[in-house]
Amino acid sequence: MARVAFQNVSKVFVDEKRGTFTAVKGSSFEIEDKEFVVFVGPSGCGKTTSLRMIAGLERQTSGDIYIGDRLVNDLHPKDRDIAMVFQDYALYPHMTIYENLSFGLRNLKKPKDYIREKVMQAASILGLEHMLERKPRELSGGQRQRVAVGRAIVRDPQVFLFDEPLSNLDAKLRVQMRVELAELHKRLEATIVYVTHDQVEAMTLGERIVVMHEGDIQQIASPKELYARPANMFVAGFIGSPAMNFMDADVQGNRVYVDGAEWTVTDAAAKALQPYDGKRVVLGIRPEHLYGEDFTLHVPHDNKLTRNVQIVEHLGAENLAYFRMGDRMVTAKLHPETHVYVGQAKTFVVDMGKAHFFDPQTQRRIS
Ligand code: ATP
Repeated sequence: MARVAFQNVSKVFVDEKRGTFTAVKGSSFEIEDKEFVVFVGPSGCGKTTSLRMIAGLERQTSGDIYIGDRLVNDLHPKDRDIAMVFQDYALYPHMTIYENLSFGLRNLKKPKDYIREKVMQAASILGLEHMLERKPRELSGGQRQRVAVGRAIVRDPQVFLFDEPLSNLDAKLRVQMRVELAELHKRLEATIVYVTHDQVEAMTLGERIVVMHEGDIQQIASPKELYARPANMFVAGFIGSPAMNFMDADVQGNRVYVDGAEWTVTDAAAKALQPYDGKRVVLGIRPEHLYGEDFTLHVPHDNKLTRNVQIVEHLGAENLAYFRMGDRMVTAKLHPETHVYVGQAKTFVVDMGKAHFFDPQTQRRIS
């Protein structure tokens, strides 16, 4: 069983400029055997530090780390039965691909036949059979990335750790490698912990996602749950593209008033908003839940909003329209056949069934 668990794990760094700095603040989670879990968050939020603590490359300041049923706090990285794939691949330039793939096993003094079998197996899984005699510089970025993954596979680890493995690839290759990694996970049936700052990568690869911000875990959930029920405004704004729109809303019974517009909330939201009656909350609505009035197929037309369109971006499969609500810019993601142009006084329909409400002080989700 290769579960990975943190129990109240913190990491404090001491450096000259900042003095003591807590990069990971009392983090607890449990990754199940064979699960693909992605750590996501903006730069500096502590995801790489968390991964490095699993690997044993960084010693936690406090708390306990388990891999399988073993407490690994004081275990050397090589004894943790993990393999890590780094962002820069760290291939040896003077060695052939075969030598790169077999390096770890040769170091472990494994028999030659065993090494050959493992390397050929990994090469076949990754489609590298015809490149084994080449040097890394004779490979494309995507192929080099596969070699880096291959080096991890040959070791048959209990847990794979990936640190932004796709960030050096161009956009198209990144999409292709993303699909390959998802397939690889199915084939290997291994536990994978994957770090990225890219929320699309996290949403497409992760069975569960750990969202981090400033050393704190904000939410641990499936992609679907994160999208539909973000725990707070940080998660709501971080997951989804373009980002969720936030608006100040005054609650009056089952209605909200937003910059002169008046909308009816669902019964469930009205119930959750009872303690906020007569008060101001933050309403969150995703760009894809604002429709052009002329192109709404299934949303009731009772909650509307007319604003002057300031910018239109034609992306082919959709149009993005930008307009102002108070001092905030709001984005609507519209069907490509929606009639929209700059300067137009456009009427949008707000899908209140998809609206989110947050407490303005705590920023936590109300409904
Ligand atoms: P990125 O996406 O930029 O890699 P991250 O979320 O992976 O970011 P970490 O690398 O875990 O972030 O770093 C978290 C914080 O800890 C950052 O503020 C970083 O500057 C700090 N940090 C990391 N390693 C050290 C170190 N060895 N000494 C001092 N501070 C460190």
